[in-house]
Amino acid sequence: MVLETISHFDRERLPLKLSEVPMPVPAQDELLVKVSACAVCHTEIDEIEGRTPPPRMPVIPGHQVIGRVVDAGSDAHRFPRGARAGIAWIYSSCGRCTFCMDGHENLCPDFRATGRDADGGYAEYMVVRQDFAHPIPDIFTDVEAAPLLCAGAIGYRSIRLSGVRDGDNLGLTGFGASAHLVLKMVQHQLPHTKVFVFARGEQERSFARSLGAVWAGDTEDEPPEKLRSIIDTTPAWKPVVEALRNIEPGGRLVVNAIRKEEKDKNYLQMLDYPVHLWMEKEIKSVANVTRADVREFLDLAAAIPIRPQVEEFALADANRALCELKEQRIRGAKVLRIGD
Ligand SMILES: [Zn+2]
Ligand SMILES: [Zn+2]
Repeated sequence: MVLETISHFDRERLPLKLSEVPMPVPAQDELLVKVSACAVCHTEIDEIEGRTPPPRMPVIPGHQVIGRVVDAGSDAHRFPRGARAGIAWIYSSCGRCTFCMDGHENLCPDFRATGRDADGGYAEYMVVRQDFAHPIPDIFTDVEAAPLLCAGAIGYRSIRLSGVRDGDNLGLTGFGASAHLVLKMVQHQLPHTKVFVFARGEQERSFARSLGAVWAGDTEDEPPEKLRSIIDTTPAWKPVVEALRNIEPGGRLVVNAIRKEEKDKNYLQMLDYPVHLWMEKEIKSVANVTRADVREFLDLAAAIPIRPQVEEFALADANRALCELKEQRIRGAKVLRIGD
């Protein structure tokens, strides 16, 4: 399923085209992976609509890929033929710059994203450098593992960046795929931390309570306690301003969103320095993931264990999956089931 042009899309104007393309050939250090599952992410909508545009087109989207190694370049020996491999948002980084050397390969100026800067997993085959393919714990099926590769790994990174220690109060504003995985991870790793959830829909709020959130309210509601950190997974600005109000002195807002939409940007005019920023409050964004985030998260997910609810689509139905995601018709993570 190929993206040829940037466009706003809906059910009348579908963004991807089912095409036959040549089979990719693995370079010396690359694996050829026969894809079996690829999860659908909101970032694909940002790519298609030009908020984080692919630098060249056509491109095959998809960055939560599970498959089997079927061929490899002459120097690629880390995965035997037939081994299962996962490919996440980090497709490659330079490996030489100061960011890469310091464990911040997610910030590398040559960071390349799977399915945006290189062809991804909405396809029967893809190639990837062996060092950027990940072993997948046995307890997960292909379809279960795929959605963990993005929402889970970046959720894991956002907990780390929040600086929250066991017993600190944590807020989550927005309660979609990533946030609900964050809640499960926090319960496992930080058992004394209370989680407070802000969400617009009552359905999301009761879902949060059922998973163990101590409090769930609307975006502008005030929780009974101040919070050490809040992780924002929304595409909007109102939750940023409202969250800053509820953060304790020295606390931190972590914005886990690749892009914010323009729609409610004027809400930033409500920012009142003494209320929202004074007392050494911080704002930090989450950019991409490192390979270590992906691997540490997969091990943690297997230990907990986290089993995502999934809804399967055929590869040729990728447009329908994207439309439903855009319309926020979410019944679990959407996963393309590919091949036989
Ligand atoms: Zn993603
Ligand atoms: Zn680098």
